[in-house]
Amino acid sequence: MTGGASTASRRLLPTSIVGSLPKPSWLARPEVLWSPWELEGDELVEGKQDALRTAVHEQRRRGIDIVSDGEQTRQHFVTTFIEHLDGVDFENRETVRIRDRYDASVPTVVGAVSRRQPVFVEDAAFLRAQTDQPIKWALPGPMTMIDTLSDRHYRSPERLAWEFATILNQEARELEAAGVDIIQFDEPAFNVFFDEMKDWGIAALERAVEGLSAETAVHICYGYGIKANTDWKATLGSEWRQYEKSFPLLQKSSIDIVSLESHRSHVPMDLIELIRGKKVMLGAIDVASKEIETPDEVADTLRRALEFVDADLLIPSSNCGMAPLPRRVALDKLSALSAGARIVRAELGHSAD
Ligand SMILES: [Zn+2]
Repeated sequence: MTGGASTASRRLLPTSIVGSLPKPSWLARPEVLWSPWELEGDELVEGKQDALRTAVHEQRRRGIDIVSDGEQTRQHFVTTFIEHLDGVDFENRETVRIRDRYDASVPTVVGAVSRRQPVFVEDAAFLRAQTDQPIKWALPGPMTMIDTLSDRHYRSPERLAWEFATILNQEARELEAAGVDIIQFDEPAFNVFFDEMKDWGIAALERAVEGLSAETAVHICYGYGIKANTDWKATLGSEWRQYEKSFPLLQKSSIDIVSLESHRSHVPMDLIELIRGKKVMLGAIDVASKEIETPDEVADTLRRALEFVDADLLIPSSNCGMAPLPRRVALDKLSALSAGARIVRAELGHSAD
């Protein structure tokens, strides 16, 4: 590795993944969400670190430029963060409908929420120590956190979102200090609750990124490739125009990067015109199918995006997290992503490196 971060940040079309990768089967049961850990105590701590190391190694080996932790140390992208907060009772659960799509038993907010201690900062420092490449860390967005809870204390989604945003900002500042280059907030709720997003969702996101000098990203998608989501997608018709609601607001926001779902979706490509000027982290890998994309397919998606985004602002990525996929499939998809990016980079007159 020569030049490390500076080489990768200069590279045209730097590749990245949205967040999660499948965990090794010795760490957690594969191909399910909220999978229970197979280890405990010190063995679990060591196992998570070994899995994170492996995730970094596979991303590098397969040509991913902006490296993530693959979410190897967390059980779920929202729940694990909330577990570390005071004011939330995990024993006292209620069944709620997640993003209007599926029922889940969720914890209850019973008092003022606060962060007892840093949640992911040690893990991020561990990731930082593994690579000189730029690193990205994902946190849940305030509005998506609200949607995964029952609130008996604030009884106001807006107030609770503001509290979460303040907590996320504390965490993000510490992640930045630990050397994270890009801090990403996952807000799939922005594709569902449009009025709330407009009224307070974007403002809460702005609160979460306040004062950060690291690059900031927001990821908005149609969810993991699980049945509840694919069933929902089947009801959305032939053109998915949900981003039309969030993109104009994000274009005016201080967020640097917008991560969206594209490949094999029904999202009209021209919608990314609405975030002109922002970096576009484009999903060029489908996470809802086990079929591995060919490099040409990936390249084709990237070429179509380049009609609406400047090449130096395009970050080829996956549509969403890959946790529920078989491990080999997810890893082969990383190889396809970087091979596709390499084709387009060459067409634009940039060499493989
Ligand atoms: Zn997603």
